[in-house]
Amino acid sequence: MSSIEQWKHTTLEALLGYHQTLDAKTRKRCRLDLMQRAVMRVAEFSEHCSECQRLQRELTDIAAFPSRTDRAAKSEMKTHRKKLRDSTEHLHKAHKLLPQGTYFGLGIILGTAIGISLGILMQSIGTGIAIGTGMGVAIGSGLEARAKREGRIL
Ligand SMILES: [Zn+2]
Repeated sequence: MSSIEQWKHTTLEALLGYHQTLDAKTRKRCRLDLMQRAVMRVAEFSEHCSECQRLQRELTDIAAFPSRTDRAAKSEMKTHRKKLRDSTEHLHKAHKLLPQGTYFGLGIILGTAIGISLGILMQSIGTGIAIGTGMGVAIGSGLEARAKREGRIL
């Protein structure tokens, strides 16, 4: 196993352990899902990207956070989330990965806008918005799923 693979394995193992030791709310607050995805991506890019190699150390540190903080103070949780955000920023900027929900959100915005115009035409804004939002959810989910399949989402 290469050292990158080794790092990925150990770090993911540690993160998986939190599924047993932390409750769902804390897991969500410390963004356990995002940490897992970031570790996998950083490992993927590390071979050719020196910044991702540096991020390995950063993420190891970030991943150790939840174990120290069963009852983490709010400020500590804030620092943790900021550190995680700073680390994932490189993945967004340099590796062009979009945050989860980007296409879904776009679909809703677009659908609502279309729905309002439709509602004006139909002389029933409420119905228009309902149709538009429904369309937006469908289109947004489709685009989101495709982007995920193509590996463009973090
Ligand atoms: Zn990188």
